[in-house]
Amino acid sequence: MDPQPGRLAALRAELEAAGVDALLVTSLPNIRYTTGFSGSSALVVVSQTDAVLITDFRYRVQARTEVGADVAVEIEGTSLWSRFWGVLPRLTGARQVGFESAHLTHADYQRLMDSGARWPWRPTTGIIEGLRQKKDASEVSCIRQAVSIAEAALAATVPEIRVGMTELAVGARLERTLRELGSEAHPFETIVASGERSALPHARCSSRELRNGDLLVIDFGATSGGYCSDITRTFVVGQCSDAQLEAHAVVLEANATASGAVRAGMRGKDADSLARDYIQRRGMGSEFGHSLGHGIGLEVHEAPRLSKTADAPLPTNSVVTIEPGIYRDGWGGIRIEDDVLLAPEGPVVLTSFARGLLQVG
Ligand code: ZN
Ligand code: ZN
Repeated sequence: MDPQPGRLAALRAELEAAGVDALLVTSLPNIRYTTGFSGSSALVVVSQTDAVLITDFRYRVQARTEVGADVAVEIEGTSLWSRFWGVLPRLTGARQVGFESAHLTHADYQRLMDSGARWPWRPTTGIIEGLRQKKDASEVSCIRQAVSIAEAALAATVPEIRVGMTELAVGARLERTLRELGSEAHPFETIVASGERSALPHARCSSRELRNGDLLVIDFGATSGGYCSDITRTFVVGQCSDAQLEAHAVVLEANATASGAVRAGMRGKDADSLARDYIQRRGMGSEFGHSLGHGIGLEVHEAPRLSKTADAPLPTNSVVTIEPGIYRDGWGGIRIEDDVLLAPEGPVVLTSFARGLLQVG
């Protein structure tokens, strides 16, 4: 990833607004967003004049390649925290230091209280997560690529699905194809849920074998340039029933209504209502028990939220999922999930895989 000097400037403005002179960043996605570093072990501290990334020997080449000239890289052979206690006093003007309260273990908090007792630590929440909501052109292009890999992998997998295959076997083919097509990682555990198991919104793949008449929910994504896609389609094995077709049509209409009407500036809860109100009007409101969607980016679940309780407005250029569903215990479930860019001129649906109740097997 290219170094992102604009992001440091934006972060510094937020630090000022939050009343801290510096911020200790311990969340790896936040570290990646701020500095470009994609390794799995680092501490970052950013003040108004300095930005320092501390990582270990394994990343000495990678860190210097990924991180721009405006971030100093320190390679530590023993303990990142020991080095941090050496770095912090050298930062000019860093008196009040913030930490990310959602991303610090209690054990590490104790370090702040013990070794860092001379600084007045201030808990902060969501500073960098707030900045991450608005995607720039390079981030949108990574997400588009992650969508395109995911959809190509699904298109290659669907014709291979047969009655008698296990959910695990379907997941294996899909995941292998994702890798072959260039996905860097599976952004979350692939969901392949069939028959009555499709009523479990977050089912894992199991050894259940596909049978004629099963609903089949596949929810998965790809990663490109560190950015995720997240897509769900529902299939039927063999012939579908009228009840399946009817429920699918309701979810499809809820998805289309919300994807078409969602706008930047709308509160997350108003976006959620776009789909929920329709499903309620069709008498299936009690069967849609989760929120409508979430932001995607460096993480598969990030701000903003589209839920009944989300008061925050959806930022311009955020990328969110629209994923209404209907779940009936013992019968099955249906979900259709798309990824939508909230561009200034209106929603742009990034996913294009066919949304009908496709027959497989
Ligand atoms: Zn999903
Ligand atoms: Zn999702």
